Amino acid sequence: MPFTALGLNSHITKAIRESGYTEPTPIQSKAIPIAIDGRDIIGIAQTGTGKTAAFVLPILQRLAEHPASRRMSRALIVAPTRELVIQIEEATRKYSRHLRNVRTVVVVGGVGEQPQIAGLRAGAEIIIATPGRLIDLMQQRHVNLSTIEVAVLDEADRMLDMGFLPAIRQIVRALPKERQTLLFSASLSPEIEKLTSEFLQHPQVVQIGRRANPAETVEQTIYEVPKSRKVALLLHLLRDRALDSVLVFSRTKHGADKIARKLEQSGISVATLHSNRSQAQRLSALRAFKSGAVRVLVATDIAARGIDVEGISHVINFDFPPQPEDYVHRIGRTGRAHAIGDAISFATPDDAANVRALERFITRGIPRKRMGDFDYTEQREPVAFIPRESRSFSPPRGQKAPEGRRSGTFTSRGRSHASPAPGRATAPPRGRRRREAR
Ligand code: AMP
Repeated sequence: MPFTALGLNSHITKAIRESGYTEPTPIQSKAIPIAIDGRDIIGIAQTGTGKTAAFVLPILQRLAEHPASRRMSRALIVAPTRELVIQIEEATRKYSRHLRNVRTVVVVGGVGEQPQIAGLRAGAEIIIATPGRLIDLMQQRHVNLSTIEVAVLDEADRMLDMGFLPAIRQIVRALPKERQTLLFSASLSPEIEKLTSEFLQHPQVVQIGRRANPAETVEQTIYEVPKSRKVALLLHLLRDRALDSVLVFSRTKHGADKIARKLEQSGISVATLHSNRSQAQRLSALRAFKSGAVRVLVATDIAARGIDVEGISHVINFDFPPQPEDYVHRIGRTGRAHAIGDAISFATPDDAANVRALERFITRGIPRKRMGDFDYTEQREPVAFIPRESRSFSPPRGQKAPEGRRSGTFTSRGRSHASPAPGRATAPPRGRRRREAR
């Protein structure tokens, strides 16, 4: 089915064509006509299915076809993380590039309030927000939601997991009763059903084949490895240049920093994404990864939730996810919208029960792989890679460190950082480190 069959304005279909999309994804072809009709929707779809366009395009259609007599906020999109909000805004701007009078305002924490307040005051047509900052600005009376015609709750399941239910209730209470509500969630749990009965009216459920069975395009493998050899195995895998844009998942923030340090010490360009980083650091890490300036992004589940980076070649579960749902979300980062991707999971003996639970959940076994030329023998100490004298890590002379380094994601000249103990280290060849730093 072509996009033109969905009843969208020609300026919108033009922008879609320019985005390189040839036909709607299943969630788009099902949800867009219903949303254009003005009905409420419960969309059961995960990131990677094209769900953003499924709710943004009908909003744009409404704004284009039914212009308001004055500037005012007409659509509100609420999403769990800052990264997701920013991505939704980027998509909205892309799809609305040929429309006049569509302004967006991003309302997220971690950055200054003033530009957001100005955008709200100016009556930006589309507000895209995380619940926390939106509530803050509502309490300061900078937000007027009484003119909202369409409300979207994106990744509602994750917002509940993150404890945003009271905030969402407060936001929805401030909306007009007469409105359209679109709720998207990866699964239809009893909690989500309760939410929908509270906030939606006669919703249509649009479900695209519950992706408990992860995208067919993603090739999945498990490497069984002792805990003490995980870093070494990661480095071993990264010797293959085919792993050119790699998202590594760590269970904890501390773990993410540690992995990043080890990769950095081996001359691999890396950024980290987790909630201990400032908003500026998170954005610069994402930008560096998206632009290809860094090869590896190490992230925790929450921070990476919903991030959309085209062309991720591999997802590596450095720590095996305890929840099968998280596994599905994580590997959904690769093989997105038709691309082929690989998902590699490390499993230690302690993960055996979780691996079994996952295989039951996705109703299939995941092939085990072993590197022929890798020593799987358990080590008492994790391998370290840098001699004492090279600990202070700096970019080559005359070359600026990538954003993340300057902002503290990386170690930099003169800045101290946790170092491996002396005497058990090998330095990466200098030339290689220079090449990687570029
Ligand atoms: P989402 O699930 O909204 O995060 O979208 C996942 C990815 O699919 C994004 O990179 C979109 O740019 C891309 N995408 C969305 N719709 C389409 C489409 N109809 N055809 C191809 N790619 C798409």
